Amino acid sequence: MGFADRYIHALSAPNLKDDERHHQAEPLLAAAFAAAEVSGDLGPLLHRVKFAAATARNMAHAASARERAEKGLAEAIRAKDAHREADCRQALAGDAVESERGVACLAQLLRLWTAEVIKRGRARRWVPENTAWDADAAQKLYRMVAEHSLAHWLDGNCSPCGGTGVVESRTCKPCCGTGAADLPMAAGFVREHTLNMVSELHSIVDSHAARAASKLRQYIPSAS
Ligand SMILES: [Zn+2]
Repeated sequence: MGFADRYIHALSAPNLKDDERHHQAEPLLAAAFAAAEVSGDLGPLLHRVKFAAATARNMAHAASARERAEKGLAEAIRAKDAHREADCRQALAGDAVESERGVACLAQLLRLWTAEVIKRGRARRWVPENTAWDADAAQKLYRMVAEHSLAHWLDGNCSPCGGTGVVESRTCKPCCGTGAADLPMAAGFVREHTLNMVSELHSIVDSHAARAASKLRQYIPSAS
């Protein structure tokens, strides 16, 4: 399954119509995108996306809501219940719109992150870019590293324990209690750069969070 397919739901999950926070968070997300475009600082944007992805647990909920609407639609058509049919169609159409918005958001984030990876990769001279062939291969590498690092960062939780590191009150064996999933990629050059970029995504967000926390303390001394 492709990167986009895997994360469409993760990103659109908090956009469920019954999630009031979604409507409040949307302008904040737009603002974070705008700030990233202007300042080149991805911190606020990544922080927000990660927050949204944290509610990816709603994914199952989103999937079952869609399934219910599809079943309802089939039943309504069979029963010739035009009113109910219209309701179900509307629910499904809303779902599709939310999902498209999730794709657009993800595509924009990936574009910004790819530009950042290219900048970092070039500065560190990952690969020579002297000939056209080199440049083409380099672009492929940057794109691959950007996609995989973003995907792993967005959803790098160990699936048996869901990132908690604990299963049935015991340390989770697959992740040894770290809660982190292993990067599903063969050892080598690409994996090494991908892991580096994953840790840089973490540090971009951590430093943004630290700055935000210190600002908060500045204005609200009791918030520590
Ligand atoms: Zn685990």
